[in-house]
Amino acid sequence: MSTETRTSIVWDYAPAPESTDHVRLAARYGLFIDGDFREPAAPRYEASVNPATEEPLAEVAWAGAEDVARAVDAARAAQPKWAALPELERAKYLFRIARLIQERARELAVVETLDGGKPVRESRDVDIPLAAAHFFHYAGWADKLRYGVNAREVAPLGVVGQIVPWNFPLLMAAWKLAPALACGNTAILKPAETTPLTALLLAEICREAELPPGVVSILPGDGETGAALVRAPGIDKIAFTGSTAVGRDIQAALAGRPVKLTLELGGKSANIVFEDAALDQAVEGIVNGIFFNQGHVCCAGSRLLVQESVLDEAVARLWRRMGRLRVGDPLDKNTDVGAINSAEQLQRIEALVAAGESEGAQRRTIACEVPERGYWFAPTLFTDVSPAHRIAVEEIFGPVVSVLSFRTQAEAIEKANNSRYGLAAGIWTDKGAKAFEVAAALRAGVVWQNTYNHFDPTAAFGGYKESGFGREGGPAGLRPYLQVVR
Ligand code: NAP
Ligand code: MG
Repeated sequence: MSTETRTSIVWDYAPAPESTDHVRLAARYGLFIDGDFREPAAPRYEASVNPATEEPLAEVAWAGAEDVARAVDAARAAQPKWAALPELERAKYLFRIARLIQERARELAVVETLDGGKPVRESRDVDIPLAAAHFFHYAGWADKLRYGVNAREVAPLGVVGQIVPWNFPLLMAAWKLAPALACGNTAILKPAETTPLTALLLAEICREAELPPGVVSILPGDGETGAALVRAPGIDKIAFTGSTAVGRDIQAALAGRPVKLTLELGGKSANIVFEDAALDQAVEGIVNGIFFNQGHVCCAGSRLLVQESVLDEAVARLWRRMGRLRVGDPLDKNTDVGAINSAEQLQRIEALVAAGESEGAQRRTIACEVPERGYWFAPTLFTDVSPAHRIAVEEIFGPVVSVLSFRTQAEAIEKANNSRYGLAAGIWTDKGAKAFEVAAALRAGVVWQNTYNHFDPTAAFGGYKESGFGREGGPAGLRPYLQVVR
C-alpha cells in the first residue's frame, strides 16, 4: 500500500467545545490602581468583544492621563518598600502569583480564547502554562540578581511603564511583570484595547496574592492611554511590545528624557529549508511557524525560503498539510486556526494579500467554511514571490506564508538577512555543522534549528534592527530592569 492511500483517511471530528460555565467575568471592570479596582477619573467604559462572535464580553474602564498619574503616584509610593523587602520575600509573592495562575489556568485559558480569538488548545497548552513559568522563573532570580549581571552590585530602576499587544495578552503581561518585580521595580501595565480581560484577572490574582498595593497597576485603554503612560512624569522605564511605528513614536517621545527603554517590535522572519532537511518534519514546523495563533506572532516564520531542488516537493507537501487545518470555533479543542483578533487586523491582512495578488504572486487559500459572524481568514500560501513584493517585505501578522527559493547556502543567508527586521529565524537541515554556520551568519535574535516557535522562560528573546532592542527571558531579561551600582 502506498503512503498516499494509507494517509488519505478522512478524519471527521465530532465537535469538542471547551465549556465556559466555570468562567465568572464581571459585567464591568474598573482600573486596577493601588491594590484595588477603581473608577476612572473621567468615566469611560468600553466593551471587550469576542472576535469569533462579535459579542461583548464585559465592559472595561479606559484610563486617561489623570488615572495614569494616580497609578504613577501609587507605584512611586510603593517602590522603596518593595525594593527593600528581603529578596526571598519578594520571590514568595512571585511564586504565589505563579501558583494562582496555575490554579486558575482553565478559566484564564478560556477567557484568553474568548477575548482574543486564539484556539483554546493554544491558550491552554502554551499561553497560560508559559505565563506561570515566567513567574516561577523570575521568582527564582529574585535573590540571585547579581549573578545575572556578572556579579556586580545592582539596584532596581524604579517605576516601569509596560505596554503590551493583543496577540499573547497574559503571556506578554507575564514577560513584562515577572522580571520587573523580581528586580524590585513597581510596574504599570497597559494591556491592548481588544484583549484586556486576562490582565484584569491577573489584577485579581495580584490582590489574592496579597501583593502590596501599588506594586502592580493595570490600566486598560487604547493608544492614547499608552501614549499618556509613555509621557507621564515619574516613570523610570518603558518596556513596549507592538508595532515598529508605535515603537518609533515612543522613542521620539522619550528622547532627551532620563527614561530607559526596551522595544520588542515586528518581524518578517525567515524559515529556511535546506534540501537535506527531513521534509515532513519541516512541513510541520512551517505550519507551526506561520499558522500558530493565526500568524499573529511577531516571530512568525512568514518568509519561507526553500532550496530550489526541493521547492516543488516542499510546497506540494505543505499545501496538502494545509488542507487538513481546521479553521473555526476557537473554543473547539480540535481547532487549529481560530478567529482574527479584530476587524482592523483582518483589514490589514486582506489589504496585504490583495497587494500580493496585484503584484503578481500566486495565491492559494484553503477551502473551508467559517462562521458567518466574527473575523476569519483562511490559511494562505503565496508562491512566485519576488523579494521586492510587499508580501515578502512587510509584516502581515496573519495566516499567510510567502514562499521564496534559494540555490546555495550563501544565497539563503543573504536573502534571510535582506530585511529591515531581525527577530527570529528557522533552519531545517540534517547537518548540524551547517545549522550552526548559518545561525551564526543570521542577524536574528532567536534562531531555531529543526523546530519553530518554541518558547522557554530561560531563553532570551528579542530583536536586531527594526525588530527592536533589549532582551526578555532568562538572565538577559533581568538587565533591562536593573542598574549596575558598582
Ligand atoms: P500597536 O498599535 O503597536 O499596539 C501595541 C500596544 O501599544 C497596544 O497596547 C496599543 O494600544 C498601544 N499603543 C498604540 N498606540 C500607542 C502610542 N502612540 N503610544 C503608546 N502605546 C500605544 O500594534 P497593533 O495596532 O495592535 O498592531 C499593529 C501591528 O503591530 C501588527 O499588524 C503587527 O505588525 C505589529 N504587532 C507586533 C507585535 C509583536 O509582538 N511584536 C504584537 C502586536 C502587533 P491599543 O491596543 O489600543 O492599540
Ligand atoms: Mg476582545
